[in-house]
Amino acid sequence: MKEGTDRKGIKTVAVIGAGTMGHGIAQVAAAAGYLVLLRDVNRDALARGIQNIERNLAKGIQLAKLTEADRDQTLQHIHGTTRLEDLTDADLIVEAAPEQLELKRQILEQLESTSSRSFIFASNTSSLSISAIAEFSARPENVVGMHFFNPVHIMRLIEIVVGKQTSQETVATVYEVARTLRKDPIIVKDVPGFASSRLGVALGLEAMRMLEQGVASAKDIDTAMELGYNHPMGPLKLTDVVGLDVRLSIAEYLHRELGSETFRPPDVLRRLVSEGKLGKKTGEGFYSWHNDTEDARRAHTS
Ligand code: NAD
Repeated sequence: MKEGTDRKGIKTVAVIGAGTMGHGIAQVAAAAGYLVLLRDVNRDALARGIQNIERNLAKGIQLAKLTEADRDQTLQHIHGTTRLEDLTDADLIVEAAPEQLELKRQILEQLESTSSRSFIFASNTSSLSISAIAEFSARPENVVGMHFFNPVHIMRLIEIVVGKQTSQETVATVYEVARTLRKDPIIVKDVPGFASSRLGVALGLEAMRMLEQGVASAKDIDTAMELGYNHPMGPLKLTDVVGLDVRLSIAEYLHRELGSETFRPPDVLRRLVSEGKLGKKTGEGFYSWHNDTEDARRAHTS
């Protein structure tokens, strides 16, 4: 069978949470031909998630990347629901609920008690331990991480995170599913920060320390990586896009869990967060985004 077409018996994919990540995961799964059940506890969030999918698809048509038939087919494959009981036919459940360990454990427990069939539970957590999410599961061998990136319909990477008890069969299945979604999966051990956050955050924090030491301006540090290393976006600009508060909490978590000074949050990061300068979303971070036309123009120098 051609690479990217082996579905390993997965026909129905349920997505838990229709927020930033969940709606994107539902969209790519439906576009790949899976029957998708998109569940949110909040009716408005579910409606917003479906509207976002419609908007993404309309943009795809505008850019001539999709046809109207593609759009219709994708939308036909998605069924929104607020009821947990509607997910009992799912072969694979991708969880994209808020980043709280207790909530994720609770969702898994509810699903296991509602559905008698065996399903794979893939958490989209960006930092929590897959083994900890699976701790009270009746079938921990079926629990795995599938870490998608934002925006899901554009970003190609999926980190497949292998928990202590995750079976090889589960890993092989989600790997093939990732390929059918036209993503590029990598397989990573269940360690704090997986591969992506650990490297990405280390680079961002070092760039902040360089800024504090006056090595160069924020813009010039970013340019070093953009032009010298072909990164599409420098580490400080990327921190502004992700959110300084988000980056600070990941840095604190990695510093605590890995015990490495590499992840100690620099003073400039703490200061900007305490001043409410959280990056693009508040209009100010390492750059000013008030005239968000192309790139931010003005860089803070310390
Ligand atoms: P979000 O807040 O945008 O969406 C979460 C949704 O889950 C909300 O619509 C909420 O109503 C719903 N929800 C809450 N409890 C639920 C339940 N019990 N059942 C069903 N739905 C429920 O969050 P997000 O940014 O999409 O993040 C979701 C997960 O993805 C988190 O674990 C996050 O760490 C991870 N993640 C986020 C990003 C990102 O850039 N936002 C990137 C990668 C991974």
